Amino acid sequence: MNRLPKAEIEDFKAHFQGDVLLPDDAGYDEARQIWNAMIDRRPALIARCASPDDVVQAVKFARKDNLLVSIRGGGHNIAGNAVCHDGLMIDLSLMKSIQVDPNTRRATVEAGCTLADFDAAAQAHGLATPLGINSTTGVAGLTLGGGFGWLSRKYGMTIDNLLSAHVVTADGSQVHASETENDDLFWGLRGGGGNFGVVASFEFQLHPVGPDVLSGLIVFPFDQAKSVLTQFARFTETMPDDLNVWMVTRKAPPLPFLPEDIHGKEIVALALCYAGDPAEGEKLIEPLRGFGTAHGEHVGVQPYTAWQQAFDPLLSKGARNYWKSHNFSRLGDGAIDAIIEYAGKLPSPQCEIFIGTVGGQTARVAPEAMAYSSRDANYVMNVHGRWESAAEDERCIAWARDFFVKSQPFASGGAYINFLTQDETDRIPFAYGATYDRLVELKKKYDPTNLFRMNQNIKPV
Ligand SMILES: Cc1cc2nc3c(=O)[nH]c(=O)nc-3n(C[C@H](O)[C@H](O)[C@H](O)COP(=O)(O)OP(=O)(O)OC[C@H]3O[C@@H](n4cnc5c(N)ncnc54)[C@H](O)[C@@H]3O)c2cc1C
Repeated sequence: MNRLPKAEIEDFKAHFQGDVLLPDDAGYDEARQIWNAMIDRRPALIARCASPDDVVQAVKFARKDNLLVSIRGGGHNIAGNAVCHDGLMIDLSLMKSIQVDPNTRRATVEAGCTLADFDAAAQAHGLATPLGINSTTGVAGLTLGGGFGWLSRKYGMTIDNLLSAHVVTADGSQVHASETENDDLFWGLRGGGGNFGVVASFEFQLHPVGPDVLSGLIVFPFDQAKSVLTQFARFTETMPDDLNVWMVTRKAPPLPFLPEDIHGKEIVALALCYAGDPAEGEKLIEPLRGFGTAHGEHVGVQPYTAWQQAFDPLLSKGARNYWKSHNFSRLGDGAIDAIIEYAGKLPSPQCEIFIGTVGGQTARVAPEAMAYSSRDANYVMNVHGRWESAAEDERCIAWARDFFVKSQPFASGGAYINFLTQDETDRIPFAYGATYDRLVELKKKYDPTNLFRMNQNIKPV
């Protein structure tokens, strides 16, 4: 374990407003825990920043002592790069200020905010921007990888709504990045992950949303999966941008609207959200009910913030998780058959295969416009391996990997970097595709020594 000289640590603390945690300090173990319980690393030092100036201090300290650096936003990333072993963890989770200007419909959001924090502040004014579907996720990591959710077909990826960012770069400078200032950095931040600096705050465009939205779940028997999935695939190709429908196949959780004898059995669920007039949405979703003979449904008008938290109980912190992911431009028979085959042999009650539907506004941006280039991804599939004990690791990981291989022939190019695990570094150039070479050049400019390498790393070579 890296034992840093005491005098240096004291000097660092003296210039730091937030909390500095060493391995023996109370709170250290809690601070190093992240969403994925498979990650168990012990930083030499955790710097819980209270301000952008603290971030500068932390970056300079790491540089001086040549420490490995990790950056923690919401701590949700599956790869676990938020926490490093034996280095300096820059923890932004105390930086939670949010300012919403309802007149300009803009929000400035500090890097420690979760989606729940941001949604609550924006919805106080009937506003929102596209974010993900699990409210405990961090705004920072989600945004830097691209970000998509229920509103993305209507308003684009999260990065399509990013107006500017306040960044601490690898040399410890504080810079502003937008279309008009450091525009190359701004291009790289929109999909390039944590490669180019520590983002202290983000400025987003907001849109009128809700505050109530038509949303919910329709759950079908697994033996109707082929028909339901085929109809889902065709329906989602032509649905209006205001509507989003995702598919998840898994063992049924004990949801009160499902008959008890279905709990624990394989099901196919359609999750939907209509970001317009609920009465109009009711008409549009009616065909979904005819995709099969549903076990049950829970669809209605509810606060947007409630729908944003609907999946939280199934995605809580502390389980072991391993993911594999593909993008699809279209879901054909081959992909559907592979999904059904592997959903028929789920290795744990919590494993699932989900298809997030994007397209719409996300596809109307040129692939080279930002670092994130997968604009042809109409569907992002996540093979979500999730289980409780280490004894199940091998079986659950093998299931996810096997299915990944089986479904690969039907996938389109690219991959979503926010869904890559730590053993998928070879997929990074593939994930970026057309923008990778430019990202390498940008990395050489902003972080030539690769100080920020605990991420889906773009090497400056
Ligand atoms: C249950 C669950 C559901 C999800 N659903 C969705 C979804 O619907 N849509 C979607 O798009 N994604 C989704 N994701 C993926 C999510 O976007 C990524 O896991 C994302 O990286 C999480 O961000 P974070 O800040 O919580 O993570 P962290 O683990 O804290 O950060 C991830 C990485 O981002 C970088 N980083 C974080 N903060 C900063 C910063 N301030 N400055 C510079 N670099 C930084 C670092 O490299 C860090 O390792 C989901 C993830 C989970 C676990």
